[in-house]
Amino acid sequence: MRITMIGAGYVGLVSGACFADFGHQVCCIDRDPEKLAMLKGGKIPIYEPGLEELVTTNALQGRLRFDDNLADAVSQSDVVFIAVGTPSRRGDGFADLSFVYDAAAEVGRALKGFTVVVTKSTVPVGTGDEVERIIREQNPAADFAVVSNPEFLREGSAIDDFKRPDRIIVGTDATGAKAVMGEVYRPLSLNAAPIFYTSRRTAELTKYAGNAFLAMKITFINEIADLCERLGADVQDVARGIGMDNRIGAKFLHAGPGYGGSCFPKDTLALVKTAQDAASPIRLIETTVSINDQRKRAMARKVVDACGGSVRGKTIGVLGLTFKPNTDDMRDAPSLAIIQALKDAGASIKAYDPVGMEQARKLIEGIEFGDSAYAVADGSHAIVIVTEWNAFRSLDLKRLRALMAMPVMVDLRNVYRGEDVVKEGIAYSSVGRERHL
Ligand code: NAD
Repeated sequence: MRITMIGAGYVGLVSGACFADFGHQVCCIDRDPEKLAMLKGGKIPIYEPGLEELVTTNALQGRLRFDDNLADAVSQSDVVFIAVGTPSRRGDGFADLSFVYDAAAEVGRALKGFTVVVTKSTVPVGTGDEVERIIREQNPAADFAVVSNPEFLREGSAIDDFKRPDRIIVGTDATGAKAVMGEVYRPLSLNAAPIFYTSRRTAELTKYAGNAFLAMKITFINEIADLCERLGADVQDVARGIGMDNRIGAKFLHAGPGYGGSCFPKDTLALVKTAQDAASPIRLIETTVSINDQRKRAMARKVVDACGGSVRGKTIGVLGLTFKPNTDDMRDAPSLAIIQALKDAGASIKAYDPVGMEQARKLIEGIEFGDSAYAVADGSHAIVIVTEWNAFRSLDLKRLRALMAMPVMVDLRNVYRGEDVVKEGIAYSSVGRERHL
């Protein structure tokens, strides 16, 4: 199959490289000249484990190329994927679809021969209808079908997720488009990944429902964690206890500082708006959004408490800035709100992240960056583990203790056992578990 992938970001680049690896002929289009120059020069603009090798191999073998000429690529393609961003719209929280619609109009003008146009971006119900209308308006004679094929990969394990998905959702009623999509994903269906065909609107909603459910599951265990702290129970044991029930499942039951990242915050908000507009509000998700928003500052208050009630004039060392490990993505990372709240409370911040510092520097002002966990601990009155990078899982606690101005650790990811930390003379608090002072 000849495939055009519009948008070479976290989703487009990974999907494009994987499709090329399946043997398809792929052209990735991006309108960001800097990104494109890097990709053409064999450099990867994002951090994603395994991606550099996958891109290089497939580019060398002539199956993957990068370009800015959308019209040229589209006119020669059997399938065109739209994988551009759909961030929250400023002001109302609805998904900003301008990138998708811009791409659709360009695609419309360029189509030649029967082409399947696929929205891989996460888009609200009805977007496929609008994409179809835009293409038809640009090119009344075009022979095309618009399909919804939402993506479920996770940053940090994106290639594996793409190549071994739990399921592939394809939303279309058009027989010709179904056959083409079946061909695109044939290497995966041979590997027993189920392709689940639905209507286009159903596919669009399935993505939001999935993300909203996961966000709700995280929020649920976070509230249980707060209750555990009040009642002297242990949230990790509660999570294991309920997770052993197959109806609940063990995943997504890790209490922490609240969900963040480029998907859950914007997708929950967009679902809330869609549902309100459809006069069918989803109050569970409205509440999830509000609980999660408040949680970030609550985590800063936890740090203040651990420091004896005030951080004014104190230095707080923050370990981990990205929204999760193994990515450089800083979009809506909990660290942003936690650092802001600590600064508001009068603290000076030192921070370190193994991969995310370059992105973080663009978003966080007025803090100091260290080049290791120990550099951050040096002179700090508390260290706070915000992201559970492997590099923070077995810190030399004696060395930390010796460097710190005040021996306090706040572990927002429950990486350590309190007994082990307090044994080294460091006061320890975590999420939903006993405090060790
Ligand atoms: P991203 O911001 O990393 O990448 C989007 C890219 O599209 C950018 O490089 C941008 O320059 C390019 N672009 C925008 N308009 C364009 C146009 N008209 N022509 C060519 N290029 C254009 O975004 P992302 O994280 O890859 O997310 C893309 C979509 O996938 C979003 O809807 C997101 O919700 C969804 N999604 C993301 C993830 C994830 O983990 N990041 C997972 C599943 C789904």
